[in-house]
Amino acid sequence: MRAMSNAPSIDWDSYLDEAIERLCAFLRVDTSNPPGNEILACNFLGEILKAEGIDYDLYDAGNGRVSLRAVLKGDGSKRPLMLLNHTDVVPVEREFWDEEPFSGLIKDGHIWGRGALDMKGLGIAELMAFLTLKRLNIPLARDVIFFAQADEECGSEYGMRFIEREYPETLDAEFVINEGGGGSTEAFGVERPVYSIAVSEKGPLWLRLVAEGRPGHGSVPHDDNALDRLVRAMHRIQEWERPMTVSPVLTEYFGRLNRAGIYKGEATADALKAAAERDPRIRALLTNTISATTATSGIKHNVIPARAEATLDVRLLPGVRPEEFEAELTAVMDDPKVRIERVHVGWSDTNPFDTEMFRVMEDVLHELMEDAVVVPGMTVGFTDSSVLRNRGTISYGFSGGLTTPNVARGVHGHNERVSIESFRLNCQAVWEVTRRMCAK
Ligand SMILES: [Zn+2]
Repeated sequence: MRAMSNAPSIDWDSYLDEAIERLCAFLRVDTSNPPGNEILACNFLGEILKAEGIDYDLYDAGNGRVSLRAVLKGDGSKRPLMLLNHTDVVPVEREFWDEEPFSGLIKDGHIWGRGALDMKGLGIAELMAFLTLKRLNIPLARDVIFFAQADEECGSEYGMRFIEREYPETLDAEFVINEGGGGSTEAFGVERPVYSIAVSEKGPLWLRLVAEGRPGHGSVPHDDNALDRLVRAMHRIQEWERPMTVSPVLTEYFGRLNRAGIYKGEATADALKAAAERDPRIRALLTNTISATTATSGIKHNVIPARAEATLDVRLLPGVRPEEFEAELTAVMDDPKVRIERVHVGWSDTNPFDTEMFRVMEDVLHELMEDAVVVPGMTVGFTDSSVLRNRGTISYGFSGGLTTPNVARGVHGHNERVSIESFRLNCQAVWEVTRRMCAK
């Protein structure tokens, strides 16, 4: 990285040694969710903070579902920056792993363990930046908040949503660094580092359709069969042609990739809509998607069922409100005896990308890796950033990590690991962005 004239000098070898040691130890803390047991992660983080003389608060949602927050005070001339992470991880299927998932093992230049990518690696990069600001006694223009949340992987009911309900004042910040972004060694089949800074995400809307009708004998069909009603409603949903929306984020995303020679198609709205007809991954970025995922009905071959159910996994575009979508869906199904039940909901606003922090992130990534292409992005999965964006906070998915598509499959998959080189980049990027945003 280019030396900054006013930047404190960092001994990157020892910084990285410490970061690796802490990440390996953090990966040994089993916070599989369910049950989460994030109090173990809070004990781990709390001890490190205590040893550095940093106070912290715990937010206990019961049953070991605890989140931790610590603050370094600034002079208040700018609003806070939050380093956000979640401490829980998704469970493992041990039999498919080549190494013990909670070993924190280093092998072949990689740090192994559930959470290495999602997201204890970024959590430790944030912690290291936080500790280093304190150790170097750097005067801060804004508060820096380190917030380690519980329960992100199961919908945040005992983490971010609990905090928002009970302690909303703790979420006040101008900017947030969170998961959801990062680098890939290739995109659209072209090998070149592409970094996405996530400024929006799709919102999950999990719905159950319940059709009711009149039971009867299978030998005497009638037109109030619950299963028939459900099938008709599902058919209308399949035929529903939903409009495609090319948001400014996507125009910028594809435009930058096009100019870099990575995305070969044009980045105009019409061209992207045409591309979406052929490519389901592009379509998922341009529309509210609906996947039918389960259907159940009936008890016996010759009995007309009184009830039939199906589940839909709907993903809403940023800015689309769940109620609006449900009203449209009701009109499309056009059957008063098929009702919608909401199982899980989240939605996210879009953050602007013409901000000070976006520019700082771009600069830092380019300094770390000269030929990197940096794009604003939209994640199709969901993160705790949605809660913050909907409160008007700018929450970017950001990481300096650079991952091959093969290693990226470890997220929620098997053999999750992060290369030491990628982790080093992430530590440097998070430190540098945090310092530039906060130092006076
Ligand atoms: Zn995650």
